[in-house]
Amino acid sequence: MLNKEELDYFQNMLEETKVQILSNLDSTSSELNTLRDNSPRDEGDHASMQRGQSLGNTIMLKQADKLKAIERSLKRIENETYGICDSCGEAINIERLKVKVFADYCISCREIIEQENA
Ligand SMILES: [Zn+2]
Repeated sequence: MLNKEELDYFQNMLEETKVQILSNLDSTSSELNTLRDNSPRDEGDHASMQRGQSLGNTIMLKQADKLKAIERSLKRIENETYGICDSCGEAINIERLKVKVFADYCISCREIIEQENA
């Protein structure tokens, strides 16, 4: 189990990452609006605009996923279950949490899940 200081540290990291993602989402969607406002006249422009949009959407989806994971982790800090693997219930290595602050699973479970999804 993580101590109070460690939990504070991760909570700060999560809050900071959250703010970052929210501002990323903001700038991505305003870029998309700019793309949309430049109404294209020929097919080439149209195609490149669509590419830009789907790229933007992919980025936004990824960011939105990350945001959800962060919200989940913040909830877990509240419920005092943060840092515990969602699958096996073992403590997640703190070094792993530092790299991936919103990790849901320990390394062994993550590997199993990735193999199943592969
Ligand atoms: Zn596990």
